[in-house]
Amino acid sequence: MESQEQYLRNWLDAHRVVNASGTMTSLGASSVSPEVAAAVEVALPYFIDMHELQAFASTWIARLTGAEAGCVSASAAAGIAVSVAACVAGSDMSVVEALPDLPAERRKQVVLQKGHEVDFGASISQMIRLGGASVREVGTAIGCQPHHLEGALTRDTAAALFVVSHHTVQSGMLGFRDFVKICHAKGVPVIVDAASEYDLRIFINQGADIALYSAHKFLGGPTAGIVAGKKELVRSCYINQSVGIGRAMKVGKESIVGTIAALRRWQSVDHKGLHREEYAKVCAIRDALAAEEGIHVEEVPDPTGNPITRLRITPSGGPEAAAQLASLLGQGRPRIVVRGHHVDLGFFELDPCNLMDGDVGVIVGRLREAAASMRAGKKTSTAGSLGPRKSGYYDDGVPAVDPLIVPWEFETPVPSARESELLDWPDRYNDK
Ligand SMILES: *Cc1c(COP(=O)(O)O)cnc(C)c1O
Repeated sequence: MESQEQYLRNWLDAHRVVNASGTMTSLGASSVSPEVAAAVEVALPYFIDMHELQAFASTWIARLTGAEAGCVSASAAAGIAVSVAACVAGSDMSVVEALPDLPAERRKQVVLQKGHEVDFGASISQMIRLGGASVREVGTAIGCQPHHLEGALTRDTAAALFVVSHHTVQSGMLGFRDFVKICHAKGVPVIVDAASEYDLRIFINQGADIALYSAHKFLGGPTAGIVAGKKELVRSCYINQSVGIGRAMKVGKESIVGTIAALRRWQSVDHKGLHREEYAKVCAIRDALAAEEGIHVEEVPDPTGNPITRLRITPSGGPEAAAQLASLLGQGRPRIVVRGHHVDLGFFELDPCNLMDGDVGVIVGRLREAAASMRAGKKTSTAGSLGPRKSGYYDDGVPAVDPLIVPWEFETPVPSARESELLDWPDRYNDK
């Protein structure tokens, strides 16, 4: 009989995904480095006191983040829930055990800028509610002013949460330093969700009471979260995690050991060298596609300041063509998964961080193939000299909306029976 290892390897090889989308939970998060995997393997047979292991992790988290203390959680999402629980329950065991129900006299609101209520797979606000709090959104979807935040900080406020992500509204929101200043002036602790950020120190440096990171994103660790912050608050996080609501999001010794190994490795990674290698992959794909008909290729920096340059692929033919091209890449073996959350704007992106040896060639070959098949199937308009997002023009040169390109025309739903009834309503009214 074939070995366990061979048996699993066969399945994994047959189902491998080329990951051009970044670190995604749905694709297995990180490719764990061999040295981190080896550390996990060493730990698996041991019995150890988990509190001691977490204390060991705390020293490593403190060393790399500059925080007073830390603990490992099941994930950054779990970190949001337990740190909110820590802010509403503290280490009062009667409340820790009562969560997610809270005694009436407890402060229970967590303040969140409206433009930070994003979805990373689940929503930020759901994680807050899981921790026993209610969400108080401040500002509007496009803006938050100091007075919006100040006015929301009341005797009912337990904490304020700041989210760092390319998914948040990238302008008009309060910056981190202002956010902290306003919250601290009213004695409100600030939790920052920095799950996907490279810089492990900056938020603690700028006053975060708790900073949350994923161990399985850039750190290349196993699935886990990192909670770093003020000692008393981290202690409450740990209590809520071990014997409170966090018990349903238990973190095992393998994840804690793997997180320590990933943090230790992070210190000695040649970060610039790695960025250079990743950028070389971006350039290779860019150059290979430069002459491809009907595809516009452009380099874009990471919006939150991480050291990543991605490649934006904009096919002529608008959102429909972008969606079709992304979907064609996702078919066949291996599947190529791209960063597709903006296909409704007519483009998708390729992220170099998780590309393996040989993936560049696979991506270029399959992109060319897919683009050629789309050209053969349907003659789409070409980008031409006006660029990929040109509007249409009437014969006399006057701008006209091109229904193929404008996002609000994308997937125009067929009116349901009920909607068409409503549309008919004025006529029927007139008939009477
Ligand atoms: C990825 C991500 C999360 C979730 O992190 P997990 O560790 O996978 O739970 C939460 N918030 C943001 C901003 C993220 O990017």
